[in-house]
Amino acid sequence: MFLTIETTGTPDAPATDLGFLLHKHPGRAQAFSTSYGTAHVFYPEAAAEQCRAALLLDVDPAALVRHGRGKGRGGAPDAAMAQYVNDRPYAASSLLAVAIGAVFSSALKGQCVARPELPERELPLVVTVPAVSARGGVELVHALFAPLGWTVAAEPVPLDEQFPEWGDSRYVRLELHGRMPLAHALRHLYVLLPVLDDSKHYWVSADEVDKLLRAGEGWLPGHPEQALITSRYLARRRSLTRAADERLELLRLAEADDRTAESVDNAVSADENTDDSDSTDGARDAHPSPQPLAVQRRTALLTALRQAQARRVLDLGCGQGQLVRELLADPVFTEIVGVDVSMRALTFAARRIGLERLGERQAARVRLVQGSLAYTDARLKGYDAAVLSEVIEHLDEERLPALEYAVFGAARPGTVLVTTPNVEYNVRWETLPAGEVRHHDHRFEWNRGQFADWAGQVAERYGYGFRLVPVGPDDPEVGPPTQMAVFTRREEDEKRKGEAAA
Ligand code: SAH
Repeated sequence: MFLTIETTGTPDAPATDLGFLLHKHPGRAQAFSTSYGTAHVFYPEAAAEQCRAALLLDVDPAALVRHGRGKGRGGAPDAAMAQYVNDRPYAASSLLAVAIGAVFSSALKGQCVARPELPERELPLVVTVPAVSARGGVELVHALFAPLGWTVAAEPVPLDEQFPEWGDSRYVRLELHGRMPLAHALRHLYVLLPVLDDSKHYWVSADEVDKLLRAGEGWLPGHPEQALITSRYLARRRSLTRAADERLELLRLAEADDRTAESVDNAVSADENTDDSDSTDGARDAHPSPQPLAVQRRTALLTALRQAQARRVLDLGCGQGQLVRELLADPVFTEIVGVDVSMRALTFAARRIGLERLGERQAARVRLVQGSLAYTDARLKGYDAAVLSEVIEHLDEERLPALEYAVFGAARPGTVLVTTPNVEYNVRWETLPAGEVRHHDHRFEWNRGQFADWAGQVAERYGYGFRLVPVGPDDPEVGPPTQMAVFTRREEDEKRKGEAAA
């Protein structure tokens, strides 16, 4: 089982820097023992212009049998010969990935103590693996590596060179060309070689999810074959695959969010601006109100929270932390947790509330955590109240049931406050062209009937009562600009009734 990594260099950046990156001296051949045999690292070529490192894993078939995983998939477990005569010693698979992890662990992590600037450097790389076990063949090899920036040359290896009519084996000679930091290349191989082989030589346990996410950092979330990669990497264990996919989705959202951070910021500030302008520019609003709508909304939320006697409060989709700051200013709120999927929004929020400079007691009352409301999250259980202020309309309607379950079904706070725009009111915004939503990131805007229906269904399904509260001037024809639903968990209702009776 064999793999080479090759790079070219210049006098300023010699190719032999590869030795620093791999933590293996180009002048020496080294051997490392692993549970399945001996891994050798040596450099067939080591010059400033060109340097090639080779990893040769000399698999001990007896060790494989001792570890109980001698058979390739489809091999007969009981046939004595199959335990010894199989492809495992020769074809690159999860064994080679484990060897990469063991022998090049610092390089895989992108660490280089001697030359800390090196791991970041993009190198022209050529990776060659003469025999990769590839279920899915050349096509899958392309589908896995090409989206990662590799130029892929993959040739099927014939079953027998003497008899081409026998067709191809499932082995592929692989050559990858690309320009990237070495750690990226190693992480791609570490994950994708076992995925191609699709036959792990060891029992896949829960910590494999962590390994996958660590090695997949920066490239796996959003990879077009992500589903196949997680499923095969985790040996098709459904629960693990689901856990991995959820965490990847979170990462993808966060990364996409960081990329489009501008637009997220705009989303929040545009809401604010729209709102601010109706105080200064009466022409935009048939019913000019004394305060910006965002301020009125926060006042309505704070009032409802105080009425509910909430002390420990979640602000779900807290954005840039305006409400968190106001909650912090009132000592009745003893614990405040702001949650958002956008790291960038949370960074702004931390700055807005001066998180770094808060005294110990204030700091103990507030937390900002990153998370997606589309998934259940044990950290959100047991609170008195949760606020979803101008958040639901940022989710695709088909994802809404997931949020409903996560909030009303799993987190189950005593009170839930939900605000969203009332689309009927849009005709009153004179600068808003007919039929348009208030913000480009709004996936939908509901009229009063739609919101009431939604609230009714959620309340029914999850055992909450609810009332609707207008926020902003309540126009006789089109209603208020913002609509709020106040949900109260039924047990609370019962308790309160009980107390009143006593
Ligand atoms: N609550 C704030 C911000 C509303 S903007 C306010 O009233 O001003 C909507 C916010 O929801 C954004 O910060 C966005 O990042 C966040 N968001 C959108 N989808 C989310 C999801 N699935 N999980 C968590 N936050 C989400």
